[in-house]
Amino acid sequence: DPVLQLQKLAKTYNAGLPGEVQVLRGIDLTVQAGEVVALVAPSGAGKSTLLHMAGLLDQPDTGAVVFNGTDVTRLNDHKRTVIRRDEVGFIYQFHHLLPEFSAVENIVLPQLAAGTSRKMAEGKALDLLDKVGLKGRGLHRPAELSGGEAQRVAFCRALANGPRLLLGDEPTGNLDPATSDQVFGALMDLVRGTGLAAVIATHNLELAARMDRVVRLDAGQIVP
Ligand code: ADP
Ligand code: ADP
Repeated sequence: DPVLQLQKLAKTYNAGLPGEVQVLRGIDLTVQAGEVVALVAPSGAGKSTLLHMAGLLDQPDTGAVVFNGTDVTRLNDHKRTVIRRDEVGFIYQFHHLLPEFSAVENIVLPQLAAGTSRKMAEGKALDLLDKVGLKGRGLHRPAELSGGEAQRVAFCRALANGPRLLLGDEPTGNLDPATSDQVFGALMDLVRGTGLAAVIATHNLELAARMDRVVRLDAGQIVP
């Protein structure tokens, strides 16, 4: 079943003004449950804009975002926020973990926000950390972790609420090649265990080739 359908998405910034930029020009993309799609795009192609729309952070001018079969394009902010919190996980180039909290707490907090009990949330956090090879690192704060370890904690946080969709914006882009490779492997193992749909932007063509499908974005359009 499709988890995400982007239909004829178009977006222009500064419409009618001197700085007008047509960022997306008719994007059609369907991502099935269990499918991991690589999004490969030169800088400025509209990759972040596309991911923000897929994650219900931004709205298109025209076209539709369909999530689990429901058109969510014009839902109000509250409904979009609830879907984003419960159904979408985000990972970025930088981990954005809360520096004053441990790895476990960083994975627990979004679960508490979604109404999970502390006991359940801690169990889930430990289970996820174990899956990415960080059993025993749970009490470390982000500054006490290596870049690759912190990034793996961020993956656990993104999956903590059991999302249907994972969106990644260069999630290994800040790591050296060997670490990037290893961390990407940990991410794929996590994702493969859940059957969720994922769209992961990367400049790394070797990593892209390890995903199920490669989609190229150029000048706001998907190109063959
Ligand atoms: P990418 O992630 O592929 O680098 P973006 O989606 O961030 O591309 O941006 C695509 C284009 O849109 C760029 O030319 C960028 O400068 C422009 N852009 C992005 N956000 C805005 C904005 N809020 N206002 C105006 N222009 C923007
Ligand atoms: P990058 O590393 O690609 O530049 P950043 O991690 O710096 O991206 O920025 C993250 C983006 O996510 C910002 O543009 C921000 O607007 C957006 N964002 C806003 N709210 C949320 C949220 N609740 N969850 C995830 N991302 C969010």
